[in-house]
Amino acid sequence: MPILFTLILALLFSASPLRADSFPMQAKVVAPGVYAIITPSRDLPNPQNKGWNSNSGFVITNAGVLLFDSGSSAAIGSAIKSLIAKTTHQPVRWIINSHAHGDHWLGNHAFKDTVQAIYSSDITAQRITNNAQSWVERFKKMTAGASGDSAILSPDRLITKNTDLVFGSTKVSLLLSANSHSPGDIFLWLADRKVLIAGDVVYSDRMPSTRDSELQHWIPLLDQLIAMQPDVVIPGHGAVTDVAGLKRLRDLLQAFWDAVQHAYQADKTAAEMTAEVIAALAPFSQHYPGLAEKVRRDISQVYLQVEAASFR
Ligand SMILES: [Zn+2]
Repeated sequence: MPILFTLILALLFSASPLRADSFPMQAKVVAPGVYAIITPSRDLPNPQNKGWNSNSGFVITNAGVLLFDSGSSAAIGSAIKSLIAKTTHQPVRWIINSHAHGDHWLGNHAFKDTVQAIYSSDITAQRITNNAQSWVERFKKMTAGASGDSAILSPDRLITKNTDLVFGSTKVSLLLSANSHSPGDIFLWLADRKVLIAGDVVYSDRMPSTRDSELQHWIPLLDQLIAMQPDVVIPGHGAVTDVAGLKRLRDLLQAFWDAVQHAYQADKTAAEMTAEVIAALAPFSQHYPGLAEKVRRDISQVYLQVEAASFR
């Protein structure tokens, strides 16, 4: 009987792709009470990573846990919840959604029992309202169904300016990004611990997505982040990094802009300049896997920004 029972249990669990331990998550301490959950994936959501392609961070306070970004699905949110429960008895009381791309907030619903407030910018909340179900469908398609159906739990505390908040006795700042990586990104600064939980305004060892971006806002934003001199940076994608990682990303985005502008001034179309832009960025390719593929995908967006800037 116990053997039969074990077999049935094993069958039940192997039939589900969505168990918490489907995801090889670890909570890495980066400062006292501050943890990074870093995905090993450097790809878009796909059947292998089951949608887990973005990072989260959390801060344990004396009144509950503050979670920054909740992953690409309710299943990933549940896995994050289990991981946090192994680290502290405190429940997740507050969530910050850095921006509206579905890999950063679709896990919200897993925390519905304990969460008291979900923060985002007003722009992000509006974009989530407009596109929520299409993110669920898109990720299901990209992961061959592994990301599953996620119920939607939207942000309800909307940030319209840089805001200092206190959770328990922990002080944090939520800062606006000037719509640099995408419209409405915010990020978290723990000044007393010099920790920046950045979301997608920082990528470390993965080529950033620039098709929803404004590079002319993003490059100066990175200069501001460098001036803050964080000891630790948790990026939205890639390994935990520091000021050197911020400088490298700034240089990459500047080089991308310069290469497109140079070719634009020689009257080339986006399609005609793609190969030379990829060649110009070659010195960065070892640090940013997927560089050529993302340049091909996103160059027309950067081209339009360079064109618009040339008419100012
Ligand atoms: Zn992302």
